[in-house]
Amino acid sequence: MKVPYLDLAAQYQGIAEEISAAMTQVIASCSFSGGPFVSGFETAFADFCGTRHAVGVGSGTEALWLSLLALGIGPGDEVITVPNTFIATAEAISLCGAVPVFVDVQEKSFTMDPSLLEAAITPRTRAVIPVHLFGQPADLDPIVEIARRHGLFVVEDACQAHGSRYKGKGPGAMSEIACFSFYPGKNLGAYGEAGGVVTNDRSLAEKVRILRDHGQATKYCHDVIGINSRMDGIQAAVLSVKLKYLDGWNQARIRHAERYRELLADLEDVILPRRMEYAHHVYHIFALRVRNRPQFLATLAEAGVSCGIHYPVPVHLQLAYRGLGHARGSYPVAERQAEEFLSLPMYPELTDEQIRQVAQGVRSACRPKRVYVTYRFAGEVPVAAHNRARIKEGPEGPGTQRR
Ligand SMILES: *Cc1c(COP(=O)(O)O)cnc(C)c1O
Repeated sequence: MKVPYLDLAAQYQGIAEEISAAMTQVIASCSFSGGPFVSGFETAFADFCGTRHAVGVGSGTEALWLSLLALGIGPGDEVITVPNTFIATAEAISLCGAVPVFVDVQEKSFTMDPSLLEAAITPRTRAVIPVHLFGQPADLDPIVEIARRHGLFVVEDACQAHGSRYKGKGPGAMSEIACFSFYPGKNLGAYGEAGGVVTNDRSLAEKVRILRDHGQATKYCHDVIGINSRMDGIQAAVLSVKLKYLDGWNQARIRHAERYRELLADLEDVILPRRMEYAHHVYHIFALRVRNRPQFLATLAEAGVSCGIHYPVPVHLQLAYRGLGHARGSYPVAERQAEEFLSLPMYPELTDEQIRQVAQGVRSACRPKRVYVTYRFAGEVPVAAHNRARIKEGPEGPGTQRR
């Protein structure tokens, strides 16, 4: 049996009729660009997020870009984010004419290290973009506290974190604005390109609304220079159908993550992702950390399992950002994680059989290690790696060599 990294067809099978009906309605009413299906989705999504406003746009990248523009960020400004993210986070900053400044991530959470944030702030800094990588919110309390103290905006990149919570609060509750991608593979995915923002700030929502529609609040009166980033009616209708299932789908992802943990808990060669105590993690991605990634990829491919790497090259080392002049070693935690991350198949429709097959593949990629512990009475005895820790911790101390 093959286990794909993602199986959008499996999800479609369960909702095909509803999707067809919704699409037909849009086509019959010719509400292709903007219109009632978009505003209907905006209301439902704001409700889902517990925020006052939601605005649908063309993509997650544009959600980030228009948010920064709406906050007045432009040339001469700096915006702080992390290097282990999808390139779009940094692109949105650059597209405003501002400069992305990076701070490294935490070893455990893979998200922005708040203890490094303050040192990256300069008189030009205007905003901070924490990224809720893999579906787990960044540690927002200290980030927001530091941002407030320095008069900076907080823009959440929640493009991988639909339905996540930080200490019970969803994206957009603690910051100026939160940005989502509805790219097909995301936890809430359209059948094409789409994105959105949520915020409690009415005037900010209005600014994004105007920017996404050529800077016009009234037809053909263009008050600012904007762009066409209107959400497509068909995408809005698809998203409205799928939104009703999102909580259930996220619950399934959480169950699959727990199952992976059970099945891989005893492996010494893999570091499992950690759920932070403050987080309701929605597992957009379940990424292990492994030392010898090519070996894992090859063994898993042999076992019929497709994996992903998110992301092999951190943003500061991308060719596109060579102009910033960051050398290897600038952000050591993000760089090491980029070398070690291995994303296992993760989607709501995964079956237990598939999960077991993936886990079996991971196990066979872990070469059983043999270590030799000297026993006075028995010479060299091979000890399986997973027993080594137990021996170390035993009442006799390390091995039995002491006596
Ligand atoms: C997907 C993603 C984006 C960009 O969203 P698009 O809809 O593809 O433009 C931005 N940031 C992160 C972290 C993402 O995962």
